[in-house]
Order: sequence, then structure tokens, then C-alpha cells
Amino acid sequence: MLVRGVVVDIKKGSGLIFRCPQCNRLVQKGLCRIHGKVDGQPDLRIKAVVDDGMAALTAVLNKDITEMLVGITLAESLREAKEAMNPEIVEEKIKDRMLGKPIEVRGNVTSDEYGLMMIVTEAELKVPEVRGEAAALLAELEAPQ
Ligand SMILES: [Zn+2]
Repeated sequence: MLVRGVVVDIKKGSGLIFRCPQCNRLVQKGLCRIHGKVDGQPDLRIKAVVDDGMAALTAVLNKDITEMLVGITLAESLREAKEAMNPEIVEEKIKDRMLGKPIEVRGNVTSDEYGLMMIVTEAELKVPEVRGEAAALLAELEAPQ
């Protein structure tokens, strides 16, 4: 399914996260819900709320798509978070880059008690094509009458 909309929110739990090496669940404060104290493996993801004007869905973007879209790598994120001593710096960066921007996402949509959720396989931020429109206008003006 393809959805075109605007990023209206970046949910908590986006950015640099840590996963349990055994079960892949989110590790919070060094603890897995199932395995207790574990050595969390770093990962990147985005949970973006995309509104297409009719409805909103939560688009879940994995590490590869996050790296591509935001222009940061997991290694850079880790370094920056370490330097700032704040993992949320990555979430801030994602917000700066994506909030309020038009986006096109493609993936499988499921619905649960929280609403619609898409596991994104392709995503693209759309910038308004001012240049394209200007060129089209120019071509129109230059066209023989
Ligand atoms: Zn675990």
C-alpha cells in the first residue's frame, strides 16, 4: 500500500534504541522485560505519524530506511549520543528533518487497538517541486501560440 501524507508526529521510542540480544525486545535502562539485565544492541528506528488528510497511521521505519531518510548512520548516532550523553539527541534530529514534511511511504498496513500501523519498506520525503513547476510555466510561456 502507498500512502502520501505529512509527518505530523514522531512518537516516543524513535531514534536510537537498544534491543535485547536474545529476544529483540526493547531494552529500557539496561533491562529486558523478559531477560532482565542484558547488554542491549543498538538500533535505529522511527515511528512517524503520517496524516494523508483522511486518516493518520503510524509508519514504522527500520534502521536502513532511517539512515537513508535522515542521513545519519547508526555508528554516527551512537557517537553523537555518547558525546552529548543523551540518546534523545537522535530523536531531535529526526524531528528536525521530518516533522511537517510531505512524505510517501510504502508497506504493509495492519490495524490494532492503537489504530493503523504500516511496516515501511520504502519511504521518501517529498520536497515541493517549485523548480519543476517554474520550468513547466516557462515552457508554456515559450510555446508558440
Ligand atoms: Zn530479552
